[in-house]
Amino acid sequence: MHATAPAPAITPFSAYPVQSLMTVAHKPAQVFTRGRGSWLWDSEGRRHLDLVQGWAVNTLGHAAPEIAEALAEQATRLVQAGPGLHNDRAIKLAHRLAELSGLERCFFTSSGAEANEGAIKLARKYGQVRRGGAFEVITFHNAFHGRTLATMSASGKPGFDKLFAPQVPGFPKANLNDLASVAALIGPNTVAVMLEPIQGEAGVIEATPEFLRGLRAMCDELGLLLILDEVQTGIGRTGTLWGHSEAGIRPDIMTLGKGLGGGVPIGALLAREAVSCFAPGDQGGTYCGNALMCAVALAVLDALTEPGFLPAVQARGAQLRTGLQALADRLGTGRVRGRGLLLALDLPLADQAAQVADAARQPTNANTPGLLVNAVRPQSLRFVPALNIAGDEVALALTLLQKALVAS
Ligand SMILES: *Cc1c(COP(=O)(O)O)cnc(C)c1O
Repeated sequence: MHATAPAPAITPFSAYPVQSLMTVAHKPAQVFTRGRGSWLWDSEGRRHLDLVQGWAVNTLGHAAPEIAEALAEQATRLVQAGPGLHNDRAIKLAHRLAELSGLERCFFTSSGAEANEGAIKLARKYGQVRRGGAFEVITFHNAFHGRTLATMSASGKPGFDKLFAPQVPGFPKANLNDLASVAALIGPNTVAVMLEPIQGEAGVIEATPEFLRGLRAMCDELGLLLILDEVQTGIGRTGTLWGHSEAGIRPDIMTLGKGLGGGVPIGALLAREAVSCFAPGDQGGTYCGNALMCAVALAVLDALTEPGFLPAVQARGAQLRTGLQALADRLGTGRVRGRGLLLALDLPLADQAAQVADAARQPTNANTPGLLVNAVRPQSLRFVPALNIAGDEVALALTLLQKALVAS
């Protein structure tokens, strides 16, 4: 066991002035103060087995020693040289990502949305310089690409179209796994097609390998760019390095976020050399490529590319899937969705997911640990544990989930 921060004093949740925060989401009353691996402790001292992991960001779990070391070491050397200067960590990370992805050029961001915003800008720039001003990016119903104005417009989440109207134009929506619906939207203004290999926020809906290959062929034939949003599916989440690995294709542009930083804010926009058409002054950001975050991402990639890491993700994914499928069979709710450690289970009743997530977090027996799962849709739960979760932790999670299902 590595040295860990001392347990903070017990503080009741009610002692925290929560009202100082804007309410932008419904959050449970618990206040969390400490984490380690797959475990998270609240301020009243109760432990929780965490299968949400900061919304699929903590690749190596909470307070991973690899990340703590990278942060401590880099913090004493160089935090940020600034967007106008090169730093050694950003160059090394870009080179590493190029080797791993086959996409030669990289621009760093501080979030997934910002990476996608950059991808959209790069596609529009490409349209200006190579495709006679074409600017439309075909995206998909129920897609999620982030919360900036352009990425909300690119998203197909129901309600996003009205929320901060008017939307940014230029994002016609097709249906996932329906090539004809994409073909029907292609016109002289089309420059790209953009999608998630697995729609995460929509409830873990997979684009089939055949669909991805069909899109690749269609884009090649028509000179369009294929943009993959791998913010959730990248960095080993699906048991392979990228969500598209299984389809055997190469995108023209790919975005990363979440798992890349293992919990710290960093995203990346990767592109093929031939597509990388930003000129100096087109794109930037104060924190882009800051050395501290790049050092952490390098530590994450080191762990991810250790021999045996991805096979273990596949093994834990298979274990979790088998257990979830047994529950689904008992509930009569069909096939567990997803790949690797990005999985979703449907529940029998509409609006049951939040209830089950609540029951799991606060078991009636005070000696039982809480279980954190995400009610991704009203009727489905999503599971995105740390990629290094242990087999006995997966087994315990399945037991706790089963109890919560009985209790709710
Ligand atoms: C989370 C997510 C985003 C947005 O990333 P942020 O870091 O929250 O801006 C974009 N696309 C996908 C597929 C995501 O899952």
